[in-house]
Amino acid sequence: MHPARLWKTLGKSDGTTPVNVQCRLCSHFCNIAPDTTGKCGVRKNVDGKLYTLVFDKVAAANLDPIEKKPLYHFLPGTTSFSFGTVGCNLTCSFCQNYTLSTTPRLTGQILGQHTKPERLVELALESGAQSISYTYSEPTIFFELVEATAKLAIKHGLKNILVSNGFQSPECLAELKDLIHACNIDLKGATESFYSDICGAHIRPVLRNLKIIREMDWWLEVTTLVIPDENDDEKELSTIARFINDELGSDTPWHISRFHPAYKMQNRIPTPIETLRKAAAIGKEAGLNYVYLGNIPGREGRDTLCPKCGAIVIERKGYSAARGDYSKCPTCDTPIPGVWSIHDSR
Ligand code: SF4
Repeated sequence: MHPARLWKTLGKSDGTTPVNVQCRLCSHFCNIAPDTTGKCGVRKNVDGKLYTLVFDKVAAANLDPIEKKPLYHFLPGTTSFSFGTVGCNLTCSFCQNYTLSTTPRLTGQILGQHTKPERLVELALESGAQSISYTYSEPTIFFELVEATAKLAIKHGLKNILVSNGFQSPECLAELKDLIHACNIDLKGATESFYSDICGAHIRPVLRNLKIIREMDWWLEVTTLVIPDENDDEKELSTIARFINDELGSDTPWHISRFHPAYKMQNRIPTPIETLRKAAAIGKEAGLNYVYLGNIPGREGRDTLCPKCGAIVIERKGYSAARGDYSKCPTCDTPIPGVWSIHDSR
């Protein structure tokens, strides 16, 4: 166990009885009784103090193409050393990574290998990655590990990437502000009922956080997993696309990702490709300049096209892209937004 950050005691202790604590890491703001954990299952009240159970418990680590995060306008063609712990603060019925996300909550088990931040940075440097990605489950719930690793990573010239559901508390985002360089944030649906009934969360904090992040100096891309009969109607997709365009900017890349049956939605069909094409058309109609399709075979929807002349700016095969400076269209010189070099200030 490792002392947690961002929490406060609730009420006054009489000196003998431990008090409840409130975790302030994510927008659940759990009230945690002694000897219990919050909703994520990895933050525990022990004698009136909050501890993280996953500070050095890395459950998955890989060297991934950065395109797999997905980030398409941030150091394309590079690799990102990626890791995560078990646990998640959301309970999405469609979770595509449920073995990692649900274990602490459902079994109380904290699986993972003891791995210190110093070792994670060493592994990233040895691998030749230009960045570290905090991903796979939900990095908010392993905040202390993110913070310690990200600080060291910056000292060694690495960039830090957050792949998140965007349900942090404002305090958590403020603490991460100077440590993160790029992020991919899910916008899973457009309605409160989708977030509360299917994800065990609320939509307003996510929309608020996306706007906060837009004001910060992080490179931002957004992902929506389109699920048949859940969030695939035109009105819902259009609401999502318009929010991204109107509130985050038309240059914000939107990744439309294909659902595959998983966790509590094993009995569903994968998203028809035609539905994804329809979503892409809705995104473009809303004004978005960079709309991508993900989780589908072949090359469709992967290339970065110049929004002015339609020329291919970045060609992608699977998750690979050639390294390069893509700051402008090779055909018409239209500027293409993104971070194209490790030396860019972002
Ligand atoms: S991170 Fe979120 S879900 Fe976990 S204990 Fe804190 S407030 Fe609760």
